[in-house]
Amino acid sequence: MNAKPEKKAIKKIPRTEMPAQPPMERVRNYFEVALGYTLADAQAEASRCIQCKKPLCRQGCPVEIDIKGFIGQLQKGDLPGAYKVLRDYNSLPAVCGRVCPQETQCEGECILGKKPEKTGGPVAIGRLERFVADTFAAKLAEGDSACIQLTGQAACRMERPELKVACIGGGPASLTVAGYLAALGIKVTVFEALHEVGGVLVYGIPEFRLPKAIVRREIDAMRALGVEFRTNWVGGKAILVQELLDEGYKAVFLGVGAGLPQFMGVPGENNIGVFSANEYLTRVNLGRAYDFPNFDTPIFKADNVAVIGGGNVAMDAARTALRLGAKNVYIVYRRTKGEMPARHEELEHAIEEGVQLQCLCGPLEFIGDENKRLTSIRLQKMCLGEPDASGRCRPMPIEGETSELKVGLAVIAVGTRPNPILLEATPGLKLNKRGYIEADPETGETSIHGVFAGGDIVTGSATVISAMGAGRRAAKEIAKRLLGTDA
Ligand code: FAD
Ligand code: SF4
Repeated sequence: MNAKPEKKAIKKIPRTEMPAQPPMERVRNYFEVALGYTLADAQAEASRCIQCKKPLCRQGCPVEIDIKGFIGQLQKGDLPGAYKVLRDYNSLPAVCGRVCPQETQCEGECILGKKPEKTGGPVAIGRLERFVADTFAAKLAEGDSACIQLTGQAACRMERPELKVACIGGGPASLTVAGYLAALGIKVTVFEALHEVGGVLVYGIPEFRLPKAIVRREIDAMRALGVEFRTNWVGGKAILVQELLDEGYKAVFLGVGAGLPQFMGVPGENNIGVFSANEYLTRVNLGRAYDFPNFDTPIFKADNVAVIGGGNVAMDAARTALRLGAKNVYIVYRRTKGEMPARHEELEHAIEEGVQLQCLCGPLEFIGDENKRLTSIRLQKMCLGEPDASGRCRPMPIEGETSELKVGLAVIAVGTRPNPILLEATPGLKLNKRGYIEADPETGETSIHGVFAGGDIVTGSATVISAMGAGRRAAKEIAKRLLGTDA
C-alpha cells in the first residue's frame, strides 16, 4: 500500500513587519510611510507560504493572480519569474501591492489566517507583491539582463495598427484595458480630462501612500508598448463616443470613474473653508500644493480641521491636513470606529499620527463668521440603532444632544457620484437607477454595441483592483472580437 505523503507542518512564524517611517517624523514630510521589504524580509515572508495544493488566496483576488505561483518563484530566488507571474494578471503590481485591501481579499482567504494563533497570521501577500514590482523595476533600471530580456519579450509583439481602440478616462480601469490590448499589438488611445493620467491614483491617493513616480513608471511602460495618452480631453465635450466610432475606433471603453463629490445638504456648507475631499486632495496631490514654493497651488490651511466621513478618502484628507501643519485634526463619523469603512492599516496609521476620532456624531450646521468664514461645526450626537441595508448599525440622532467643534477648515468625505458630462452626451447609453452605466458583468459591454464600461462608473466607488478586474474582462472581450480568438 502506498504511504500517504506527509502533510507539511505549519509552524508558527509571525508575519514579517513592514518597516515604516516613525509617526512623528512622517507627519512632517510627504514621503511614503511604508518603506518596503528588504530582500531578507521578503525571503523570510515568502518562506511562510506553504504552497497549498488548493490555494484559497487566489479565490480572494478579484483578478485571480496566481499568488502561490509568484511566491513560489520568490522562494526559489527567481525575481524575474515572480514578476512575470504577477504581470500576467496585473498590469499595476507596484500600485496594488500598496493600496489593495489585501486583508479582506487574498490575505483574508489565506489558509494561514484561519488560525493566526497557531500560524502567525496570513502570508503578507501585498507586501511581497510590492517587493517584487519595486525590485524588478530597480533591477531593470540598473540594466539587469534577465529583467531586460523579460520586458523585451513583452515588447516583441505583432503590431496591428488597423485595429484601434479608444478609452475615455485614464484611471486604473482604462489603464488595464490599454495595457492588455497594447500587449496584443492593438493601438490604444486614452483620452483623459485632466492634465495627468492615472485617475484617483494621481489626484486622490496621496504621495505618502502611493508615490506618483510609481504610477508614472507604470504609465511609461504602457507608452513603451505603444499606448497613446491624450490629456486635457473631456469626453462628452472635446470628443463624443459616436465621433470615435465614426473615426474608425473598433471599440470604446468608458472608464471615467465616479468623481463628482457628494455634499451633505446641511446649512452653511457654502461657507469659506468647507471643501469636498475631492477638491482638497486634488489641489494637494495633482496640484502638488504640499510642495510649495516649487508648486504655487493655493490650499486652505487651518490649525483645527474636521474631516467628515470614515473611509479611506477621509483618512487621506485627515493625514494630509496634519502634514500641511494643522494642530488638531478630527475625523467626524456618525457610527463608531469599528464600523469605519477605511482600511484597518490606514485608520491605525492616522491614529498613530495624531488624528483624533469624534465618533457617533454628524454635522448639523457649518457655522461661519460675518465674512462667511467657517468657525465651527454644530454636531448632532448619535447612537447606534438596528442594522441597515449595508449590515451596519444605523446611526440614530439623540434628541436634543448637540455639541460645537471649533474648526477653521472642514473637508467633506462622504462619497461621490458619477459625473454626468459624458453620460448625458452619449445617446442610447443605459444608466441604472443610481445613475451609473449599466454594463454586462461578464463582458463590460453597455447598451451600445462596441462600447464598454468598467470601474467606478459602473459599480460606484469601489477599489483599484475591482476597477482593474472590470478593465481586464472588457479587454478580453474586445480582444476576442477584434482578433477572433480568446487572447
Ligand atoms: P478613476 O480612478 O476615478 O479614474 C477615472 C478617470 O477618468 C479620471 O482620471 C478622470 O479625470 C477621468 N474622467 C472623468 N470624466 C472624464 C471625461 N468626461 N473625459 C475624460 N476623462 C474623464 N481604492 C483602493 O483599492 N485602495 C485605496 O487605498 C483607495 N484609496 C482611495 C483614496 C481616495 C482619496 C479615493 C478618491 C479613492 C480611493 N480608492 C482606493 C478607490 C479607487 O481609487 C477607485 O475605486 C479607482 O481608482 C476607480 O478606478 P476607475 O478607473 O474606475 O476611475
Ligand atoms: Fe501561500 Fe496562503 Fe496562498 Fe496557501 S493560501 S498558497 S499559504 S499565500
